[in-house]
Amino acid sequence: MATIAENIKQLREQIDAEAQLWQRDPAQIRILAVSKTHRAPAIAQAHAAGLSDFGENYLQEALAKQQELTHLPLTWHFIGMIQSNKTKQLAENFAWVHTVDRLRIAQRLSRQRPSHLPPLNICVQVNISQQASKSGCSLEELPQLVKEVCALDNLRLRGLMVIPQPSSDFEQQRIPLRQCRQLLEQLNQQFALDMDCLSMGMSSDMQAAIAEGSTWLRIGTAIFGQRPPTN
Ligand SMILES: *Cc1c(COP(=O)(O)O)cnc(C)c1O
Repeated sequence: MATIAENIKQLREQIDAEAQLWQRDPAQIRILAVSKTHRAPAIAQAHAAGLSDFGENYLQEALAKQQELTHLPLTWHFIGMIQSNKTKQLAENFAWVHTVDRLRIAQRLSRQRPSHLPPLNICVQVNISQQASKSGCSLEELPQLVKEVCALDNLRLRGLMVIPQPSSDFEQQRIPLRQCRQLLEQLNQQFALDMDCLSMGMSSDMQAAIAEGSTWLRIGTAIFGQRPPTN
């Protein structure tokens, strides 16, 4: 079985090759290592192999691992569903939240962000394929939400995040990702914003996401291997 360091090396080579193919600067395509279900030593190995940004979906699990890894200079991103009674711990313990999909959550995060920390980086999650998944703001609500989030004091609105309907076809994969990029461009123009992030692309649609402008690839399996089945 390949080690985490070998996986990361291969992933970087793949990203560099895709960046070249799509004429993108590889420095603009960052790896967010999705470490949910994986233990602290695996995260330490990924850090030793050069990664610094880690994404977690479950708050309690994330906080426990953060406690074990305080000796490492890691940047923590929250990429899971947000319950409003968890916003305080998110505001206190993360540098980024990718899954903001309603104003009430954004307001709480801004109010609860400790003043000694820099503004919390935010991506608004968009429900682009209007799929069964309940998370993500609708396309209709998006402009208003973006406008309100960027006015909040202790947040820094960085971009959009999407989890598209899975597809194994490259061209199919590109459609919602392209739409997300176009939305970012439109919103930047409409509200004179400088959002610079597209959080999109996982192990299975990474190539399509690079082709469509992803700046944060959220990669779990291709780094850490298969996750144990959940029950
Ligand atoms: C688990 C997860 C990922 C990583 O998925 P892989 O297929 O393991 O790369 C990315 N984004 C989100 C929101 C996730 O929950």
